[in-house]
Amino acid sequence: MTSFDELNEQISRCMKCDIARQRTKVVPGEGATDADILFIGEAPGFHEDQQGRPFVGQAGQFLDQLLASIGLDRNNVFIANVIKCRPPGNRDPLPTEMENCRPWLNRQIEIINPRMIVTLGRYSMGMYFPGKTISKIHGTGIHRDGRIYFAMYHPAAALHQRSLQQTLIEDMKKIPSLLAEIKSIPEEKPKPQQLSMFEV
Ligand code: URA
Repeated sequence: MTSFDELNEQISRCMKCDIARQRTKVVPGEGATDADILFIGEAPGFHEDQQGRPFVGQAGQFLDQLLASIGLDRNNVFIANVIKCRPPGNRDPLPTEMENCRPWLNRQIEIINPRMIVTLGRYSMGMYFPGKTISKIHGTGIHRDGRIYFAMYHPAAALHQRSLQQTLIEDMKKIPSLLAEIKSIPEEKPKPQQLSMFEV
């Protein structure tokens, strides 16, 4: 079984996409490797690419505040992205890049085995809530294979649209009780086959 360090090593050597040649640092993700909650953003931006760490820019500061509002910090959770390399000019991730990077995220999920997966923004939402619209499903969770999947707006969206700040704060507040709810159900480690069946 691959350890997290080995996995990070493999991710850092990945050259599947053209954008890998343009990165300063790969951004695999960070946090507790046995976290109950995994947050999945979109892609590294300028600062993340420079530092090799997720959510270290302005959106990250807001994410830190949101975590603090429910008594957490980034050491208590795991924070990853749909893709691990910065798209040039912060353009949207391409479908092929998301597909190429998907096995890395799947492997992280297998190892961390979080009870709750929180999607930040529409790209990670699209992976677990296909066909849904963020304005309709944000702040709602679904139970699937022993976990809760919960959709939130991307923290960067609140930097452009101030009214979303309160929405993100309210949605974040729902996480502790949902986590307590899922943790009251005995853990059933999802099998890799089940993961691939659901996480299309
Ligand atoms: N936005 C993201 O989606 N991820 C980051 O790591 C930083 C900004």
